[in-house]
Amino acid sequence: MEQTDENSRNRGGDAHPPVIIKASMQAELVCFNAGCRARFPLTEVIYNCPRCGGLLECGYPGRAVDPPALKRTWRERRMSNAPLDRSGVWRYREMIPFLESYGKVVTLSEGNTPVLDAPHAAAWVGLDQIAFKHQGFNPTGSFKDNGMTCGVAQALRLGMKRVACVSTGNTSASMAAYASAAGLQPFIFIPHGNISYGKLAQALEYGAKTLQVEANFDQILALVRVLAERLGIYLLNSINPFRIEGQKTIMVELMDQRDWNPPDWIVLPGGNLGNTSAFGKALREMLDLGLISRIPRLAVIQAEGAAPFYGLMHSSNRSELPKVEHPETLATAIRIGDPVSWPKALHEVETSGGIVEKVTEQEIADAKAQIGLCGIGCEPASAATLAGIRKLRAAGVIERNADVVAVLTGNLLKDPDYIYRYHTGQLAAPSGQKLESTYGNQPVVVPNDPDRIAEMLA
Ligand SMILES: *Cc1c(COP(=O)(O)O)cnc(C)c1O
Repeated sequence: MEQTDENSRNRGGDAHPPVIIKASMQAELVCFNAGCRARFPLTEVIYNCPRCGGLLECGYPGRAVDPPALKRTWRERRMSNAPLDRSGVWRYREMIPFLESYGKVVTLSEGNTPVLDAPHAAAWVGLDQIAFKHQGFNPTGSFKDNGMTCGVAQALRLGMKRVACVSTGNTSASMAAYASAAGLQPFIFIPHGNISYGKLAQALEYGAKTLQVEANFDQILALVRVLAERLGIYLLNSINPFRIEGQKTIMVELMDQRDWNPPDWIVLPGGNLGNTSAFGKALREMLDLGLISRIPRLAVIQAEGAAPFYGLMHSSNRSELPKVEHPETLATAIRIGDPVSWPKALHEVETSGGIVEKVTEQEIADAKAQIGLCGIGCEPASAATLAGIRKLRAAGVIERNADVVAVLTGNLLKDPDYIYRYHTGQLAAPSGQKLESTYGNQPVVVPNDPDRIAEMLA
């Protein structure tokens, strides 16, 4: 396949030798199931453990690093013009060493997202201070880009020509962009008549072949697995362990930006729970490698109408997820009733001494408006974080002087319809119940008359 100039500029190249002191064994795929832990070569095209059906993760046995040297290298790469070093994912490649070489990596300069102080939001929830790590600053507007650059790198390494996912959301937007940039053909499968236009529009523009199927999500997933096998299509659904590796770097970059001082709390929305899994794995690995001295507590926030993980954490039986048959929330990025990564997420929340909270549609909508008033803004799912923090703060779980970082997962412009409706008092919950426009900001119709307008503005 021919590479365009644009593509070759975005290619990684082998800039610096990695600063790994010891990697006694090769990286491998490991079954996450504690009772199995079967191991497989990284180049095997599997999505679940062939032995027990469990989730897979990348394992790096015997890895050791020189922490001060590695931190110095990562800082120096910020001044480099090499595409690999400018990526907020691949800059930290020693944390995700699943490739033998970086020549095929395609980067769109993902990551590099800011940590923003938000005194207005802090005051609203009763904290002394809060910071937002804003993943909406990514090339396609969500944290899915951090994972997708790795998933697509793995597809290229396997020699795949086509990639696919089942999604109408940020995953499809991100996959389409990275696949096209890499010269791969992206396929998106979506349930018929269940479309989120803003994000689908991105996927179409980035060149994804989009197939609407007369079936529900689970049926389509089964169908896609059959097609993937038959046609040699690589699946980039949220279960893909290489996407999780890329999302780990959100935490590595955050710690780098904070000079390796972990906060007390990291708060994030929970949907399929891939990000929760990635954050926990990153923090544990950073602790094991001696890059940080303690692990922050994870607080995962779900929408009330799509809160199976909340149900699990508050159940006496944590070995069975209480699925939600018909998940409902306007925060579509977290409208998930049967999250695939829940066993990993459970492990990470328990290991970090974390917590899972749920919030209402009204709480999400109001928190979102408050994040907007900070001059920051985000999509609805991301605002669940601030809503959750407010609730946990009121309950005394999070203390006033706590050091809190909330991860805003997606860009404000992902869902403009929601925003307009909220501010004009037309937003209704999936139940049909009208939501209050608590912090509404209506456009005002005025006459073409300077005196009258001046009077109104006085
Ligand atoms: C995918 C997504 C989520 C949910 O993340 P999970 O890893 O599935 O829990 C939340 N917010 C946004 C904006 C997303 O795109």
